[in-house]
Order: sequence, then C-alpha cells, then structure tokens
Amino acid sequence: MKVSVPDHIMSLKPYVPGKPLEELKRQYGIDDAIKLASNENPLGPSPAAVRAIEAVGRKLHRYPNGAGYDLAEALAARLGVQPGNIVLGNGSDDIIVMLARVLLQPGDEAILPRPSFLMYELAVRACAATPVEIPLKSYAVDLEAMLARVGPATRLVFVNNPHNPTGTLVSRPALDNFIDALPTGVVLVLDEAYIEFVRDANCPHSIDYVKADKIVIGLRTFSKAYGLAGLRIGYGVMPAFLAEILHRVRPPFNVNSLAQAAAVAALEDERFLEDTVQLVHNELDFLYTTLDGLGIDYVKSQANFVLIRVGKNADEIFENLLRQGIIVRSMNSYGYPDCIRVTVGLHDENVRFIKALKQVL
Ligand SMILES: *Cc1c(COP(=O)(O)O)cnc(C)c1O
Repeated sequence: MKVSVPDHIMSLKPYVPGKPLEELKRQYGIDDAIKLASNENPLGPSPAAVRAIEAVGRKLHRYPNGAGYDLAEALAARLGVQPGNIVLGNGSDDIIVMLARVLLQPGDEAILPRPSFLMYELAVRACAATPVEIPLKSYAVDLEAMLARVGPATRLVFVNNPHNPTGTLVSRPALDNFIDALPTGVVLVLDEAYIEFVRDANCPHSIDYVKADKIVIGLRTFSKAYGLAGLRIGYGVMPAFLAEILHRVRPPFNVNSLAQAAAVAALEDERFLEDTVQLVHNELDFLYTTLDGLGIDYVKSQANFVLIRVGKNADEIFENLLRQGIIVRSMNSYGYPDCIRVTVGLHDENVRFIKALKQVL
C-alpha cells in the first residue's frame, strides 16, 4: 500500500448496481434489451420535471439553493410538517450515509434486516461500526427478533418498508409496539423508497411517527415512483433536532439545482404519479396471474418489483435472461440462491420477460 487506509475501509466491497442497458449492448450486441433490474419507473420521468430541468439549464452557472428552499417548502406543505423536519439528499443514499456519520462511532451497532438494501451495511461499516443483521422471517422484516437484539451499543435500526428485495410490509400495530419498546437514544430509520406503490391499508407511515414526536426518520426518494433516479434526489423526514445535526455534516450543495427544480415539478404532477402507480398495480396483477398459471412461486409485493422463486441457480437464470436481452437481478448474493427480483415494466416488457422466463426454465 502506498497510503495507509483503515481496515474498516479496505474491507468494504463497492456497491454493485443493476447492469446498465449500454453494457448489454457492448457485451452481447443486443440493442433491444429491457432493464427490469433497478426498480426504475417504466414510464420515464414526469414530463413536467423534464420541462423544469430545461428551464433551469440556462441558470447552471449559479450555485444551487443550498437549503433547497422551494423543495423543502413544497414537501413540508404536502406532508404536513415543517421545512425544519426535512433534509434533502443527493438520493436517499446520501441521507443514509449522513445518518451513519453523525450517529455511529467505532464499535457502535446498527441493526438491519438480512437481506436488505446494501447501502445500510456499507454506510455502517464505513464508520467502523458493526452491522447486526437479523434474518427475515417468511420474507418479512422480523421486528421481534430485531428488538430482542437491541443492546447498549445499538444506535440505529433500519427497517425497509416495503422491504427490498421482498416487497413485504410490516404492519402498523407491530411497528407501533416496536417503536414504543425501543430504548431512548436508539434512532429508527424507516426507508420508504416504495411507499407510493403500497396497496395495503394497514401500512404504517413514517410521517405519522415524526408528527407524534417519536425518534423516527422516514426516508423517501424521487428515484422510483417519480421516475428521477438519474437526477439523484431523496429526502429524510425527522424530528427537527436530528435535522439540525444532519445539516452539520451535509455538504453545502449536495442537491443540484436541476434536481431541486425537477422534484418540485414532479411533486405537482399528480397525474403522472397516479398513472405510474396504476400501471404498476395492473402489471403486478398480470404477473401474478401469469406466474400462477405457470406454477411459479413468488412473494406478493407492495412495491414495483417481485421476488420470484425460480427454483434453480438464480445466477444461471439471470445469465440466460441476459442473453435474451432481459436484465433482472439475481438474488444469490442477497442470500436467495433460488430467486430473481424483477422490476415491473411496461406491459410489453412484462410479456417479453414472462416469455423468456418460460424459455429459460
Ligand atoms: C432504490 C432504493 C432507495 C433509493 O435510493 P436513492 O439514493 O434515493 O436513489 C432507497 N432505499 C431502498 C431500499 C431502495 O431500494
């Protein structure tokens, strides 16, 4: 080594994203490939957001509004909280990293479900803290087992609701009890990246807990239902005292001006959000019916993706689907060697996926 880097950094493995479409073109010469790997919006971005970006383009020589004033105001009004309860991030990933930085010291523990979104573990380890992983139970977050593991070193708990990669929910009564039982000083992060797609009326919402003065942080993103993954814009909703602490480490211009303007426009474009959610619901039902007909097992999802039990080596199925121009995610590295996760696409894309899946199985 030419420079000295701490062990807790050298032992990190970089996050592996879903395969980009361009790479498939390069590697396999396929140019009509479809990407159902990263839970993106199949309808694209909201046209209103694109127009907002074009308008801001002419002002790019200026620094962004460091406080994200307009967006924080718009979000606060919509959610019924104060702007001081909101911290904007360069994607919600950015908030996860900031949270770990301000709350975790070497030796501290953060409790998370296994499997779950890999960013939690990465952010925790980068602070020389210890991720304590609690296995899912029947594909759902096991709140009881998580609570049982909370100890004096616990600072943070991550719950992903709906859960990625299974699409399951924790129920409101179960989460109410969990929050009431958490010792003072432990911060609960409720990652709601897919909350817009939930159909179950029994779903808890982070905002309700924040309004009730619980030590809860809700994470939301514009990357999924709002179709703005490429812009990198997400936010956390939290007690004002925690927001003030996060602002101490937040880089001053972490959210660029295009993202701020596009997010404000996307928030106002309710029609686009409704269309997106409706499409995902219709297509989820189509996938369920088709998979049922084929006798293929899957987990019912409250998000815009489905965990499908392919019964065989998922890495191999993933490879074979790639060759047919369909990018999904193998769940092998997530501890499900017999599962793939597929994002709900446009109807034609889902039809093509099913056709290819039938073939490779
Ligand atoms: C996609 C996703 C996010 C969103 O990440 P961004 O950084 O906002 O793009 C957050 N959490 C989970 C579980 C996700 O799947």
